[in-house]
Amino acid sequence: MSLSLSAEQPAAPDVADDGVWLECIECGDTFAPFDDVRYTCDECDGLLEVRYDELPTFDDFEGHGVWRYAAALPFESGVSIQEGSTPLYEVPRLEDEIGVKTLRIKHEGMNPTGSFKDRGMTVGVQVAKELCVGRLACASTGNTSAALAAYGTRGGMETLVLLPAGKVAAGKIAQASLHDARILEVDGNFDACLDIVQELAAKGEVYLLNSLNPFRLEGQKTIGLEILEGFLADYDTVPDRIVLPVGNAGNTSALYKAFRELVQAGELDEDDVPKLTGVQAEGAAPMVEAIENDADEVRRWDDVETRATAIRIGNPVNAPKALPGIRETGGTAVAVSDEEITDAQRSLAAEGIGVEPASAASVAGLRKLRDEGVVDDDERVACLTTGHLLKDPDAAAAAGGDPEPVPADTDGVLKHLHQ
Ligand SMILES: *Cc1c(COP(=O)(O)O)cnc(C)c1O
Ligand SMILES: [Zn+2]
Repeated sequence: MSLSLSAEQPAAPDVADDGVWLECIECGDTFAPFDDVRYTCDECDGLLEVRYDELPTFDDFEGHGVWRYAAALPFESGVSIQEGSTPLYEVPRLEDEIGVKTLRIKHEGMNPTGSFKDRGMTVGVQVAKELCVGRLACASTGNTSAALAAYGTRGGMETLVLLPAGKVAAGKIAQASLHDARILEVDGNFDACLDIVQELAAKGEVYLLNSLNPFRLEGQKTIGLEILEGFLADYDTVPDRIVLPVGNAGNTSALYKAFRELVQAGELDEDDVPKLTGVQAEGAAPMVEAIENDADEVRRWDDVETRATAIRIGNPVNAPKALPGIRETGGTAVAVSDEEITDAQRSLAAEGIGVEPASAASVAGLRKLRDEGVVDDDERVACLTTGHLLKDPDAAAAAGGDPEPVPADTDGVLKHLHQ
């Protein structure tokens, strides 16, 4: 199977362009990467992956940010706003409280538009330029639209975003709006938005930059590469486990691909690959259901609800790539309640790290798996926090304390403080 950790590096087919090609993960058919616009396999509609005839080694990485990892990407550079090189915070109190040997927080909220989506867009928008497409589009729970708007306008392209009406956090809509995206509010959930934008893309109206687009995931591989390099520098070993929120499962797929390529290049031992551990909200947990039932396919949930709006997704499009990633690495998936998510958001905030609700799901999931004994106390763990606190100011305000009204004089303030 092409997605196994022990898969051999394939030889470049005739369609390869400069050692890069697209391959269907279901039937193995191969396609030229930059000749035509294509998101899935012509033969079987399976998901595509980007393949390279030369795999990167750690020695090949130089410079900063996403493009430090150019050797693992289809281009030397792209439409960039200095994405990547995000902090890998120590959280000693949280580490103690949860009870693992090491806990580090990879805070992707520190990217230019405040989420990891920037890492995918710097590559995806570059591909759009190579293909000479006119208008870029995505369906989004918010962060993809903010990133697409910023990178699209930086690349000089028009952008169109489809959002589920009333279900997108305020900061994200504000970003898409100011970065000049045309915003369509759809009377339906995210999955309905994605169905529509896929059909628009199939009709040639727009170039699709959801994570169905295999090039986005190439950029997102760099999260995994940064985490490995950070752990190697600090502990001389890679993490035992990486815990991350799951929506469309793009990141889960991307991290797995990064590790698979390192294994194939002989840079990482198969047994050392971090256990990919996905976390979903209880009200939107189709991946967790598939892992628990050992199912080959994910059942689409038509009704999804959670305060973690970024992962309010019932039909994770990248499941066929992500399920093998979780299974082959010995990871798992777990669902957490909205209350557990908010508790974790407060715990991170108490360490000075501000994240949006979906991001806190990773820490909530780790806490739960540690309580259940699934995670050992001697594990070194990285939790991914995917978006910044200011993305969803309403959720943050609701989770925090209320401002206290006081009169405009010092005596009155003192009286209030001492009462
Ligand atoms: C997009 C997003 C996710 C979901 O990531 P997937 O790769 O689709 O699983 C999680 N958290 C935040 C904040 C996001 O913006
Ligand atoms: Zn196919």
